[in-house]
Amino acid sequence: MKSRSIVQTRQQLLAGESLKEIVSHYISQIDQKNAELNISVVHYPEESIARAEQIEKKITSGKAGTLAGSVFGIKDVLNEKGKVVSCASNMLRNFKSVYNATAIQKLLDEDAILLSRLNMDEFAMGSSTENSIYGPSRNPHNPDRVTGGSSGGSAAAVAADMANAALGSDTGGSIRQPASYCGVVGLKPSYGRVSRYGLVAYASSFDSIGPLTQTVEDAALVLSVIAGRDNNDGSSSFDTVPDYLSALNATAKGLRIGVPKEYFSEGLDPEIHQQILDRLKQFESDGATLVPVSLPHTPYAIATYYILATAEASSNLARYDGVRFGHRADQKKIREELKVEEKVLRDELKLADEASNQLIHTKLNALDSPLIRLYKETRSEGFGIEVKRRIMLGTYVLSAGYYDAYYGKAQRIRRLIRQDFDRAFASCDVIVSPTAPTTAFPLGDNQDDPIKMYLNDIYTISANLAGICGISIPIGFHSDGLPIGMQFMGAAFDEISILKAGRITELQ
Ligand code: GLN
Repeated sequence: MKSRSIVQTRQQLLAGESLKEIVSHYISQIDQKNAELNISVVHYPEESIARAEQIEKKITSGKAGTLAGSVFGIKDVLNEKGKVVSCASNMLRNFKSVYNATAIQKLLDEDAILLSRLNMDEFAMGSSTENSIYGPSRNPHNPDRVTGGSSGGSAAAVAADMANAALGSDTGGSIRQPASYCGVVGLKPSYGRVSRYGLVAYASSFDSIGPLTQTVEDAALVLSVIAGRDNNDGSSSFDTVPDYLSALNATAKGLRIGVPKEYFSEGLDPEIHQQILDRLKQFESDGATLVPVSLPHTPYAIATYYILATAEASSNLARYDGVRFGHRADQKKIREELKVEEKVLRDELKLADEASNQLIHTKLNALDSPLIRLYKETRSEGFGIEVKRRIMLGTYVLSAGYYDAYYGKAQRIRRLIRQDFDRAFASCDVIVSPTAPTTAFPLGDNQDDPIKMYLNDIYTISANLAGICGISIPIGFHSDGLPIGMQFMGAAFDEISILKAGRITELQ
Protein backbone atom coordinates (compact mmCIF):
# COMPACT_ATOMS: atom_id res chain seq x y z
CA MET A 1 0.00 0.00 0.00
CA LYS A 2 3.00 2.30 0.45
CA SER A 3 2.63 5.05 -2.10
CA ARG A 4 5.47 7.12 -3.43
CA SER A 5 6.53 10.28 -1.74
CA ILE A 6 6.82 13.58 -3.58
CA VAL A 7 10.58 13.32 -3.44
CA GLN A 8 10.64 9.76 -4.83
CA THR A 9 8.29 10.75 -7.62
CA ARG A 10 10.58 13.61 -8.46
CA GLN A 11 13.48 11.18 -8.76
CA GLN A 12 11.43 8.95 -11.01
CA LEU A 13 10.69 11.92 -13.23
CA LEU A 14 14.35 12.80 -13.46
CA ALA A 15 15.04 9.18 -14.37
CA GLY A 16 12.75 9.59 -17.38
CA GLU A 17 9.30 8.46 -16.23
CA SER A 18 6.52 10.54 -17.82
CA LEU A 19 4.40 12.77 -15.63
CA LYS A 20 1.33 11.77 -17.59
CA GLU A 21 1.96 8.16 -16.57
CA ILE A 22 2.36 9.19 -12.95
CA VAL A 23 -0.94 11.08 -13.03
CA SER A 24 -2.60 8.13 -14.79
CA HIS A 25 -1.38 5.88 -11.99
CA TYR A 26 -3.20 7.97 -9.39
CA ILE A 27 -6.32 8.21 -11.54
CA SER A 28 -6.43 4.44 -11.83
CA GLN A 29 -5.92 4.05 -8.07
CA ILE A 30 -8.94 6.29 -7.48
CA ASP A 31 -10.96 4.39 -10.08
CA GLN A 32 -10.09 1.05 -8.48
CA LYS A 33 -10.53 1.89 -4.82
CA ASN A 34 -12.91 4.77 -4.44
CA ALA A 35 -16.15 2.84 -4.80
CA GLU A 36 -15.26 0.95 -1.65
CA LEU A 37 -13.34 3.54 0.35
CA ASN A 38 -15.25 6.74 -0.58
CA ILE A 39 -12.22 8.98 -0.17
CA SER A 40 -12.40 11.27 -3.20
CA VAL A 41 -15.53 13.34 -3.57
CA VAL A 42 -14.67 14.30 -7.13
CA HIS A 43 -11.56 14.11 -9.28
CA TYR A 44 -10.44 15.81 -12.46
CA PRO A 45 -8.64 13.30 -14.71
CA GLU A 46 -8.64 15.21 -18.02
CA GLU A 47 -7.67 18.51 -16.51
CA SER A 48 -4.86 16.85 -14.55
CA ILE A 49 -3.48 15.04 -17.58
CA ALA A 50 -3.54 18.28 -19.57
CA ARG A 51 -1.70 20.03 -16.78
CA ALA A 52 0.84 17.20 -16.65
CA GLU A 53 1.63 17.87 -20.31
CA GLN A 54 2.27 21.55 -19.63
CA ILE A 55 4.42 20.81 -16.61
CA GLU A 56 6.44 18.25 -18.55
CA LYS A 57 7.34 21.03 -20.96
CA LYS A 58 8.41 23.23 -18.09
CA ILE A 59 10.56 20.41 -16.72
CA THR A 60 12.26 19.99 -20.09
CA SER A 61 12.98 23.69 -20.30
CA GLY A 62 14.28 23.75 -16.72
CA LYS A 63 11.56 26.12 -15.53
CA ALA A 64 9.52 23.80 -13.34
CA GLY A 65 8.60 24.61 -9.75
CA THR A 66 9.65 22.70 -6.64
CA LEU A 67 6.48 20.59 -6.61
CA ALA A 68 6.56 19.66 -10.30
CA GLY A 69 5.68 15.99 -10.55
CA SER A 70 3.60 15.83 -7.39
CA VAL A 71 -0.07 14.93 -7.37
CA PHE A 72 -2.24 16.30 -4.56
CA GLY A 73 -5.67 15.72 -3.14
CA ILE A 74 -7.36 18.67 -1.43
CA LYS A 75 -9.73 18.59 1.53
CA ASP A 76 -13.08 19.87 0.29
CA VAL A 77 -12.89 22.90 2.60
CA LEU A 78 -10.25 24.86 0.67
CA ASN A 79 -11.30 27.20 -2.14
CA GLU A 80 -10.20 26.17 -5.58
CA LYS A 81 -11.26 28.39 -8.44
CA GLY A 82 -13.98 26.92 -10.63
CA LYS A 83 -14.39 23.84 -8.41
CA VAL A 84 -17.25 22.90 -6.14
CA VAL A 85 -16.21 23.53 -2.52
CA SER A 86 -18.88 21.65 -0.62
CA CYS A 87 -17.39 21.21 2.87
CA ALA A 88 -19.30 17.90 2.71
CA SER A 89 -22.44 19.91 3.48
CA ASN A 90 -25.80 20.12 1.84
CA MET A 91 -25.47 23.86 2.38
CA LEU A 92 -22.65 24.11 -0.18
CA ARG A 93 -23.37 21.04 -2.29
CA ASN A 94 -23.41 23.10 -5.50
CA PHE A 95 -21.27 26.04 -4.45
CA LYS A 96 -18.59 26.84 -7.01
CA SER A 97 -15.61 28.85 -5.86
CA VAL A 98 -14.47 31.94 -7.71
CA TYR A 99 -10.95 32.11 -6.26
CA ASN A 100 -8.01 30.08 -4.99
CA ALA A 101 -7.09 29.85 -1.32
CA THR A 102 -3.58 31.19 -0.78
CA ALA A 103 -2.25 27.71 0.10
CA ILE A 104 -3.80 26.34 -3.11
CA GLN A 105 -2.36 29.16 -5.22
CA LYS A 106 1.08 28.49 -3.75
CA LEU A 107 0.88 24.78 -4.63
CA LEU A 108 -0.16 25.67 -8.18
CA ASP A 109 2.63 28.24 -8.49
CA GLU A 110 5.11 25.45 -7.69
CA ASP A 111 3.52 23.21 -10.34
CA ALA A 112 1.68 20.72 -8.16
CA ILE A 113 -1.21 18.89 -9.83
CA LEU A 114 -4.44 19.00 -7.84
CA LEU A 115 -6.20 15.82 -8.89
CA SER A 116 -8.99 15.34 -6.36
CA ARG A 117 -11.26 16.94 -3.78
CA LEU A 118 -11.40 14.85 -0.64
CA ASN A 119 -14.08 13.77 1.81
CA MET A 120 -14.30 15.25 5.29
CA ASP A 121 -16.65 15.84 8.20
CA GLU A 122 -19.19 18.54 7.41
CA PHE A 123 -17.57 21.96 7.90
CA ALA A 124 -14.62 20.10 9.51
CA MET A 125 -16.69 19.23 12.56
CA GLY A 126 -15.95 15.68 13.61
CA SER A 127 -13.32 13.06 14.29
CA SER A 128 -14.30 10.28 11.92
CA THR A 129 -15.38 11.59 8.48
CA GLU A 130 -18.79 10.07 9.12
CA ASN A 131 -20.58 13.46 9.22
CA SER A 132 -20.52 13.86 5.46
CA ILE A 133 -23.25 14.22 2.84
CA TYR A 134 -21.20 11.81 0.72
CA GLY A 135 -21.28 9.10 3.39
CA PRO A 136 -18.31 7.95 5.48
CA SER A 137 -14.82 7.34 4.14
CA ARG A 138 -13.32 3.97 5.01
CA ASN A 139 -9.87 3.24 6.34
CA PRO A 140 -7.56 1.77 3.65
CA HIS A 141 -6.03 -0.54 6.28
CA ASN A 142 -9.43 -1.96 7.21
CA PRO A 143 -12.63 -0.78 5.50
CA ASP A 144 -14.72 -1.50 8.60
CA ARG A 145 -12.83 1.20 10.47
CA VAL A 146 -13.08 4.97 10.22
CA THR A 147 -10.36 7.10 8.69
CA GLY A 148 -10.46 9.58 11.56
CA GLY A 149 -11.40 13.15 10.88
CA SER A 150 -12.17 15.67 9.96
CA SER A 151 -9.47 15.46 7.22
CA GLY A 152 -10.18 11.74 6.86
CA GLY A 153 -10.23 11.83 3.07
CA SER A 154 -6.86 13.58 3.02
CA ALA A 155 -5.17 11.01 5.26
CA ALA A 156 -6.78 8.07 3.52
CA ALA A 157 -5.93 9.35 0.01
CA VAL A 158 -2.24 9.38 0.90
CA ALA A 159 -2.47 5.98 2.62
CA ALA A 160 -4.38 4.42 -0.30
CA ASP A 161 -1.96 5.73 -2.93
CA MET A 162 -4.52 8.05 -4.50
CA ALA A 163 -2.16 11.03 -4.21
CA ASN A 164 1.44 11.82 -3.31
CA ALA A 165 0.25 14.21 -0.65
CA ALA A 166 -2.81 16.10 0.51
CA LEU A 167 -3.80 19.30 2.25
CA GLY A 168 -6.05 19.22 5.29
CA SER A 169 -7.14 21.58 8.01
CA ASP A 170 -6.69 21.21 11.76
CA THR A 171 -8.85 23.06 14.28
CA GLY A 172 -8.62 20.55 17.11
CA GLY A 173 -6.65 17.65 15.65
CA SER A 174 -8.18 17.14 12.22
CA ILE A 175 -4.86 16.65 10.43
CA ARG A 176 -2.99 14.71 13.10
CA GLN A 177 -5.67 12.28 14.28
CA PRO A 178 -6.62 10.95 10.80
CA ALA A 179 -2.92 10.82 9.92
CA SER A 180 -2.45 8.60 12.95
CA TYR A 181 -5.46 6.39 12.07
CA CYS A 182 -4.32 5.96 8.45
CA GLY A 183 -0.58 5.59 9.05
CA VAL A 184 0.70 8.76 7.35
CA VAL A 185 2.53 11.90 8.44
CA GLY A 186 0.27 14.84 9.41
CA LEU A 187 1.61 18.29 10.24
CA LYS A 188 -0.36 21.06 11.93
CA PRO A 189 1.66 24.26 11.62
CA SER A 190 1.58 26.93 14.32
CA TYR A 191 -1.38 29.29 14.21
CA GLY A 192 -0.52 32.06 11.74
CA ARG A 193 2.23 30.14 9.91
CA VAL A 194 0.05 29.34 6.88
CA SER A 195 -2.48 31.83 5.53
CA ARG A 196 -6.09 30.86 6.20
CA TYR A 197 -7.31 32.91 3.23
CA GLY A 198 -9.69 30.71 1.27
CA LEU A 199 -10.14 28.12 4.01
CA VAL A 200 -13.84 27.91 4.82
CA ALA A 201 -13.90 29.06 8.44
CA TYR A 202 -14.88 26.78 11.28
CA ALA A 203 -13.25 28.34 14.39
CA SER A 204 -11.05 31.15 13.15
CA SER A 205 -8.76 31.43 16.17
CA PHE A 206 -7.91 27.71 15.89
CA ASP A 207 -7.98 26.83 12.18
CA SER A 208 -4.68 25.87 10.50
CA ILE A 209 -3.91 24.39 7.09
CA GLY A 210 -1.25 21.72 6.78
CA PRO A 211 0.06 18.77 4.76
CA LEU A 212 -0.60 15.04 5.03
CA THR A 213 2.26 13.15 3.45
CA GLN A 214 4.16 9.87 3.18
CA THR A 215 7.31 11.21 4.77
CA VAL A 216 8.60 13.95 7.06
CA GLU A 217 10.71 15.22 4.18
CA ASP A 218 7.56 15.78 2.11
CA ALA A 219 5.87 17.52 5.04
CA ALA A 220 8.85 19.89 5.31
CA LEU A 221 8.78 20.50 1.56
CA VAL A 222 5.07 21.26 1.37
CA LEU A 223 5.22 23.46 4.47
CA SER A 224 8.02 25.50 2.95
CA VAL A 225 5.79 26.14 -0.07
CA ILE A 226 2.56 27.08 1.75
CA ALA A 227 3.97 28.97 4.77
CA GLY A 228 4.42 32.73 5.00
CA ARG A 229 2.80 36.09 5.46
CA ASP A 230 -0.26 36.90 3.39
CA ASN A 231 -1.97 40.29 3.47
CA ASN A 232 -5.28 38.55 2.86
CA ASP A 233 -5.05 36.95 6.31
CA GLY A 234 -4.36 39.53 9.00
CA SER A 235 -3.49 36.79 11.51
CA SER A 236 -0.73 35.35 9.32
CA SER A 237 2.74 35.89 10.73
CA PHE A 238 5.45 38.22 9.43
CA ASP A 239 8.15 35.88 10.81
CA THR A 240 10.45 34.73 8.03
CA VAL A 241 9.95 31.16 6.88
CA PRO A 242 13.00 29.11 7.87
CA ASP A 243 14.56 26.39 5.76
CA TYR A 244 12.44 23.45 6.92
CA LEU A 245 14.43 20.98 4.86
CA SER A 246 17.43 21.72 7.06
CA ALA A 247 15.64 19.78 9.82
CA LEU A 248 16.21 16.58 7.91
CA ASN A 249 19.84 16.14 8.88
CA ALA A 250 19.01 16.01 12.58
CA THR A 251 20.40 13.54 15.10
CA ALA A 252 18.95 12.64 18.47
CA LYS A 253 22.03 13.85 20.30
CA GLY A 254 21.14 16.66 22.70
CA LEU A 255 17.43 16.69 21.80
CA ARG A 256 15.34 17.32 24.93
CA ILE A 257 11.99 15.52 24.74
CA GLY A 258 9.36 16.61 27.23
CA VAL A 259 7.16 13.79 28.50
CA PRO A 260 3.93 15.17 29.99
CA LYS A 261 2.60 12.91 32.72
CA GLU A 262 -1.00 13.98 32.01
CA TYR A 263 -0.80 12.49 28.50
CA PHE A 264 0.19 9.00 29.58
CA SER A 265 -2.59 8.18 32.00
CA GLU A 266 -5.93 6.37 31.99
CA GLY A 267 -7.79 5.94 28.73
CA LEU A 268 -4.66 5.31 26.66
CA ASP A 269 -4.53 1.96 24.88
CA PRO A 270 -1.73 -0.07 26.58
CA GLU A 271 -0.17 -1.22 23.29
CA ILE A 272 0.04 2.35 22.01
CA HIS A 273 1.59 3.35 25.32
CA GLN A 274 4.17 0.57 25.09
CA GLN A 275 5.18 1.34 21.51
CA ILE A 276 5.75 4.98 22.41
CA LEU A 277 7.86 3.99 25.42
CA ASP A 278 9.94 1.75 23.15
CA ARG A 279 10.53 4.66 20.77
CA LEU A 280 11.52 6.93 23.62
CA LYS A 281 14.01 4.34 24.86
CA GLN A 282 15.53 4.33 21.41
CA PHE A 283 15.74 8.13 21.45
CA GLU A 284 17.51 7.97 24.80
CA SER A 285 20.05 5.44 23.67
CA ASP A 286 20.74 7.65 20.63
CA GLY A 287 21.59 10.58 22.88
CA ALA A 288 18.32 12.40 23.53
CA THR A 289 17.21 13.32 27.04
CA LEU A 290 13.74 12.68 28.37
CA VAL A 291 12.46 15.52 30.52
CA PRO A 292 9.40 14.97 32.72
CA VAL A 293 7.05 17.94 32.21
CA SER A 294 3.59 18.78 33.45
CA LEU A 295 0.66 20.36 31.61
CA PRO A 296 -1.65 20.67 34.60
CA HIS A 297 -4.64 22.21 32.80
CA THR A 298 -4.96 19.29 30.35
CA PRO A 299 -8.17 17.97 32.00
CA TYR A 300 -9.97 21.19 30.98
CA ALA A 301 -8.82 21.20 27.36
CA ILE A 302 -11.76 19.39 25.76
CA ALA A 303 -14.44 21.42 27.54
CA THR A 304 -12.59 24.65 26.80
CA TYR A 305 -12.22 23.79 23.13
CA TYR A 306 -15.83 22.74 22.63
CA ILE A 307 -17.04 26.00 24.17
CA LEU A 308 -14.74 28.30 22.23
CA ALA A 309 -14.80 26.44 18.91
CA THR A 310 -18.60 26.16 18.89
CA ALA A 311 -18.93 29.83 19.82
CA GLU A 312 -16.74 30.81 16.88
CA ALA A 313 -18.55 28.34 14.62
CA SER A 314 -21.96 29.75 15.50
CA SER A 315 -20.82 33.15 14.36
CA ASN A 316 -18.84 31.95 11.31
CA LEU A 317 -21.73 29.82 10.05
CA ALA A 318 -24.25 32.67 10.39
CA ARG A 319 -23.31 33.67 6.85
CA TYR A 320 -25.13 30.63 5.40
CA ASP A 321 -28.53 32.27 5.25
CA GLY A 322 -29.79 31.19 1.85
CA VAL A 323 -29.24 34.68 0.48
CA ARG A 324 -25.52 35.02 0.03
CA PHE A 325 -24.12 31.49 -0.19
CA GLY A 326 -25.10 28.03 -1.22
CA HIS A 327 -28.36 26.29 -0.58
CA ARG A 328 -31.61 28.27 -0.62
CA ALA A 329 -34.92 26.82 0.53
CA ASP A 330 -37.83 26.90 -1.92
CA GLN A 331 -39.20 30.45 -1.65
CA LYS A 332 -42.40 29.75 -3.53
CA LYS A 333 -43.22 26.91 -1.17
CA ILE A 334 -42.46 29.12 1.81
CA ARG A 335 -44.80 31.87 0.61
CA GLU A 336 -47.57 29.35 0.05
CA GLU A 337 -47.06 27.76 3.45
CA LEU A 338 -47.16 31.12 5.16
CA LYS A 339 -50.40 31.99 3.31
CA VAL A 340 -51.97 28.75 4.50
CA GLU A 341 -50.81 29.33 8.08
CA GLU A 342 -52.25 32.82 8.03
CA LYS A 343 -55.52 31.65 6.53
CA VAL A 344 -55.93 28.97 9.19
CA LEU A 345 -55.50 31.58 11.90
CA ARG A 346 -57.87 34.06 10.26
CA ASP A 347 -60.53 31.35 9.91
CA GLU A 348 -60.10 30.51 13.58
CA LEU A 349 -60.47 34.17 14.39
CA LYS A 350 -63.91 34.27 12.78
CA LEU A 351 -65.20 31.61 15.14
CA ALA A 352 -63.24 32.69 18.19
CA ASP A 353 -64.76 33.97 21.40
CA GLU A 354 -63.39 36.96 23.30
CA ALA A 355 -60.86 34.89 25.28
CA SER A 356 -59.13 33.09 22.41
CA ASN A 357 -59.29 36.16 20.19
CA GLN A 358 -56.32 37.69 21.95
CA LEU A 359 -54.28 34.48 21.63
CA ILE A 360 -54.91 34.15 17.89
CA HIS A 361 -53.89 37.77 17.35
CA THR A 362 -50.64 37.06 19.14
CA LYS A 363 -50.04 34.06 16.86
CA LEU A 364 -50.79 36.13 13.78
CA ASN A 365 -48.32 38.77 14.87
CA ALA A 366 -45.71 36.11 15.51
CA LEU A 367 -45.96 34.58 12.04
CA ASP A 368 -42.59 34.63 10.30
CA SER A 369 -41.95 37.07 7.52
CA PRO A 370 -41.02 35.28 4.27
CA LEU A 371 -37.38 36.30 4.79
CA ILE A 372 -37.16 34.95 8.35
CA ARG A 373 -38.81 31.72 7.24
CA LEU A 374 -36.32 31.50 4.36
CA TYR A 375 -33.43 31.66 6.86
CA LYS A 376 -34.97 29.02 9.07
CA GLU A 377 -35.82 26.58 6.30
CA THR A 378 -32.52 27.07 4.51
CA ARG A 379 -30.51 26.36 7.65
CA SER A 380 -32.71 23.42 8.69
CA GLU A 381 -32.25 21.79 5.30
CA GLY A 382 -28.65 22.83 4.70
CA PHE A 383 -26.89 21.76 7.90
CA GLY A 384 -26.42 18.25 9.23
CA ILE A 385 -27.12 17.23 12.81
CA GLU A 386 -23.62 17.72 14.24
CA VAL A 387 -23.29 21.18 12.71
CA LYS A 388 -26.69 22.14 14.13
CA ARG A 389 -25.69 20.84 17.55
CA ARG A 390 -22.59 23.02 17.52
CA ILE A 391 -24.36 26.14 16.29
CA MET A 392 -26.88 25.76 19.12
CA LEU A 393 -24.21 25.09 21.72
CA GLY A 394 -22.13 28.02 20.47
CA THR A 395 -25.10 30.38 20.41
CA TYR A 396 -25.96 29.32 23.95
CA VAL A 397 -22.50 29.93 25.41
CA LEU A 398 -22.42 33.37 23.77
CA SER A 399 -25.86 34.44 24.93
CA ALA A 400 -26.42 37.13 27.53
CA GLY A 401 -26.39 35.66 31.01
CA TYR A 402 -24.19 32.71 30.05
CA TYR A 403 -21.37 34.52 28.32
CA ASP A 404 -19.24 35.08 31.45
CA ALA A 405 -19.94 31.68 32.91
CA TYR A 406 -18.94 29.77 29.77
CA TYR A 407 -17.25 31.79 27.05
CA GLY A 408 -15.39 34.19 29.33
CA LYS A 409 -14.21 31.40 31.60
CA ALA A 410 -13.11 29.25 28.67
CA GLN A 411 -11.06 32.18 27.33
CA ARG A 412 -9.26 32.40 30.66
CA ILE A 413 -8.57 28.67 30.75
CA ARG A 414 -7.25 28.87 27.21
CA ARG A 415 -4.62 31.30 28.47
CA LEU A 416 -3.68 28.94 31.32
CA ILE A 417 -3.24 26.10 28.84
CA ARG A 418 -0.96 28.30 26.73
CA GLN A 419 1.06 29.14 29.85
CA ASP A 420 1.40 25.42 30.67
CA PHE A 421 3.12 24.97 27.32
CA ASP A 422 5.33 28.06 27.72
CA ARG A 423 6.54 26.68 31.03
CA ALA A 424 7.11 23.20 29.62
CA PHE A 425 9.04 24.44 26.58
CA ALA A 426 11.46 26.26 28.88
CA SER A 427 12.96 22.85 29.69
CA CYS A 428 12.50 20.87 26.45
CA ASP A 429 12.61 21.22 22.65
CA VAL A 430 9.59 19.09 21.83
CA ILE A 431 6.80 17.43 23.78
CA VAL A 432 5.88 13.85 22.95
CA SER A 433 2.48 12.19 23.27
CA PRO A 434 0.25 9.67 21.60
CA THR A 435 -1.73 11.28 18.75
CA ALA A 436 -4.94 9.53 19.75
CA PRO A 437 -5.91 7.25 22.66
CA THR A 438 -6.87 4.35 20.37
CA THR A 439 -6.40 3.13 16.84
CA ALA A 440 -9.14 3.74 14.24
CA PHE A 441 -12.48 2.68 15.71
CA PRO A 442 -15.23 0.78 13.87
CA LEU A 443 -17.63 2.79 11.69
CA GLY A 444 -20.73 3.80 13.62
CA ASP A 445 -19.13 3.22 17.02
CA ASN A 446 -19.27 6.72 18.51
CA GLN A 447 -22.17 7.99 16.43
CA ASP A 448 -24.81 8.17 19.15
CA ASP A 449 -22.49 9.59 21.81
CA PRO A 450 -21.01 12.98 20.87
CA ILE A 451 -19.05 13.28 24.12
CA LYS A 452 -17.30 9.97 23.49
CA MET A 453 -16.43 11.21 20.01
CA TYR A 454 -15.08 14.48 21.44
CA LEU A 455 -12.82 12.58 23.88
CA ASN A 456 -10.89 11.31 20.89
CA ASP A 457 -9.33 14.75 20.57
CA ILE A 458 -7.78 14.66 24.04
CA TYR A 459 -4.13 14.70 22.89
CA THR A 460 -4.47 16.96 19.87
CA ILE A 461 -6.77 19.75 21.01
CA SER A 462 -4.37 21.55 23.37
CA ALA A 463 -1.97 22.44 20.56
CA ASN A 464 -4.78 24.38 18.86
CA LEU A 465 -5.78 26.07 22.11
CA ALA A 466 -2.16 27.16 22.57
CA GLY A 467 -1.53 28.00 18.90
CA ILE A 468 1.58 25.78 18.79
CA CYS A 469 2.60 23.22 16.15
CA GLY A 470 2.28 19.44 16.16
CA ILE A 471 3.08 16.49 13.94
CA SER A 472 1.86 12.90 13.91
CA ILE A 473 4.34 10.25 12.81
CA PRO A 474 3.39 6.63 12.09
CA ILE A 475 5.40 4.33 14.40
CA GLY A 476 4.05 0.90 13.60
CA PHE A 477 1.01 -1.29 13.94
CA HIS A 478 -1.22 -2.42 16.77
CA SER A 479 -2.14 -6.10 17.18
CA ASP A 480 -5.52 -5.10 15.67
CA GLY A 481 -3.66 -4.50 12.40
CA LEU A 482 -4.13 -0.72 12.43
CA PRO A 483 -1.47 2.01 12.40
CA ILE A 484 -0.31 3.83 15.53
CA GLY A 485 0.72 7.49 15.53
CA MET A 486 3.04 9.37 17.86
CA GLN A 487 2.79 13.13 18.22
CA PHE A 488 5.49 15.74 18.74
CA MET A 489 4.39 19.23 19.72
CA GLY A 490 6.68 22.23 19.35
CA ALA A 491 6.64 25.81 20.56
CA ALA A 492 4.93 28.38 18.33
CA PHE A 493 6.86 28.77 15.07
CA ASP A 494 9.33 26.04 16.00
CA GLU A 495 8.25 23.61 13.27
CA ILE A 496 11.93 22.82 12.75
CA SER A 497 12.13 20.98 16.09
CA ILE A 498 9.11 18.77 15.48
CA LEU A 499 10.27 18.02 11.94
CA LYS A 500 13.63 16.98 13.38
CA ALA A 501 12.06 14.73 16.00
CA GLY A 502 9.75 13.30 13.37
CA ARG A 503 12.57 12.62 10.97
CA ILE A 504 14.60 10.84 13.62
CA THR A 505 11.58 8.70 14.52
CA GLU A 506 11.06 7.80 10.89
CA LEU A 507 14.68 6.63 10.57
CA GLN A 508 14.75 4.60 13.80
N1 GLN B 1 -12.58 16.68 16.18
C1 GLN B 1 -12.53 18.09 16.43
C2 GLN B 1 -13.88 18.70 16.20
O1 GLN B 1 -14.76 17.98 15.87
C3 GLN B 1 -11.51 18.73 15.58
C4 GLN B 1 -11.98 19.09 14.24
C5 GLN B 1 -10.95 19.81 13.42
O2 GLN B 1 -9.77 19.87 13.79
N2 GLN B 1 -11.40 20.41 12.35
O3 GLN B 1 -14.09 19.86 16.34
